[in-house]
Formats: sequence, C-alpha cells, structure tokens
Amino acid sequence: MNKRIWLVLAALAGLLAACAPAAEKADDRLHVVTTTTLVGDVTAQVGGDLIALDVLLPPGADPHAFEPRPQDVARVASADLVIVNGRGLEAFLDNLLDSAEVHGRVVEASAAVPERWLGEEADHGGLDPHVWTDPNNVILWTETIAEALAQADPAHEEEYRQNAAAYIAELQALDAWVRAQVERIPPQRRLLVSDHLAWGYFADRYGFTQVGALVGAFSANASPSAQELAALEDRIRETGAPAIFIGFNASDALAQQIAADTGVRVVRLYTGSLTSPTGEAPTYLAFMRYNVEAIVSALAEE
Ligand SMILES: [Zn+2]
Repeated sequence: MNKRIWLVLAALAGLLAACAPAAEKADDRLHVVTTTTLVGDVTAQVGGDLIALDVLLPPGADPHAFEPRPQDVARVASADLVIVNGRGLEAFLDNLLDSAEVHGRVVEASAAVPERWLGEEADHGGLDPHVWTDPNNVILWTETIAEALAQADPAHEEEYRQNAAAYIAELQALDAWVRAQVERIPPQRRLLVSDHLAWGYFADRYGFTQVGALVGAFSANASPSAQELAALEDRIRETGAPAIFIGFNASDALAQQIAADTGVRVVRLYTGSLTSPTGEAPTYLAFMRYNVEAIVSALAEE
C-alpha cells in the first residue's frame, strides 16, 4: 500500500473516531472480549455501539494455532464478559482464562449448537468446533450472545434483542441463498476435500460429503505422512472430487502436489478467520458468500 493511501486511511479513521457518538462514554459501556474474529463479528452485530468490543485474534490468525501474548491476558482480565467459540477450537483458552481469572464471566457462543463429531479420518477425534460453517448455528450464537449481553447489561436488553432479531433475519436469508447456490452443483459432485476437516456442519446442512483432508489434526500446518497422502489421492480418484479447498492460512505446497498428481483444482477458502475490513471477507455474511461462490464455481459442471 502506498503512502498516500495510508494518509487517506489515517484521516478517515480520525474522522470516524471524531464522529462516533459512543466514543466519549466508552468507559460506561459493557466491555466485551471475544476470541475469534467470527465470534467478534456476530457480537458486534448484536452489541452495536452499546458495547466496547475487543477481538483477541487478529484477522487472518489460525484459531487452532494462536498463542496469546502477556498483554492478551490483561485484555481478557479487564473484560466484563468474554465470549468464546468453544468446542475445543481455542486450544489456548484454559491457560488464558486461568491466567486472567475470568472463568465466571465466560460465555460459550456454541453452547446451544447440536454436537457433531469430527470425521473418522481425524487423528484427534472429538467435537467439531467449526460450527459457523452452517448459518443456522450462527443463529444459535446470535441468540446466546444476545442473552448474555442482556443479562450483563439489562438496561439495554430490548436493543440487544432487536439487533439480534434483525441479524437473524439476515442469517436466514443467507441460508436460503446458500441452498439456492448449492442447487447448481449436481449431487454427485458435492464433494469436499480440504486442508483439515473444517466443513462438516456445512456438508451436513447442504448435502455435501467430506471426502477427506490433508491432515486429520487441527493445525492447518501439520503434515500428513506419505502413506496418508497416497490414501487421500486414492480417495480423490475414486470419488472424482473435482477440487481441493485450502484455507488461506494453510500451507499450499501439499495441495499443489495433490493437484499435480490427481488433476484437481486448488481453491482457496476462508476457514477460521475473517479478513481485515479492507479484505474480501470482513464480516461473517461476506465470509460465507465468498466461500460458497468459490465452492460452487469449482464444483458446478462446466
Ligand atoms: Zn479449523
């Protein structure tokens, strides 16, 4: 980015700060910390200007691999409410909450989401934490977050509930849009190969099969053995999966090797994080639209 654009952005940021009516009463507002950018966006939709929101993970960070810094402990310790994804996504969480001594103020956004086990390919079994790949689960997040904000800040209960209702209507429209888009993919081509098993809830909701993943483990950068790689390539050839979907923060080299060996296309998706506001997926709604368009264009018949 060149210097002039930076100057314009800096000027805009100053202007926005000057215009923000909530800025001067920041200290009175409910201070909410979220872990991931996805939970952060949904919390922002419900809380709006009524809350002071601090999102712990930077845009683009892999939530499985994130390691909090000492100053992150202080950010969490000073929160009135800490909203987390849960289901084991945030491996760093127990230590962080212990250090910050905030266990009593923690809300798990996914608490009401039906449990789903990771696929049998997973080396590390356990619950699937990637609940956000189905917008219906994000509706449950929205309800859980609205309830938590209303309890912590009863004076604004009605506004939180109204914000949640408006956002839920958008999520319902998103779900209908995804269903319509997926109709363009013949059922036998609704096959997902990915860097890790992140698309189970999406697959269940929209009639896809997770053919396999580069790694059964969570970390986007773990490596499969030569034997595991050969088995995955066999699965791709058997099923005729047309593409391999790789997270933007996952390593590209293995995917390129599989593409060379089997002829599949490599397609990038956003998995565990939103982008910065100037990126392609700064909100959950944009994140899902980007991913669904990428999946449909890779799998729909040419
Ligand atoms: Zn993941």
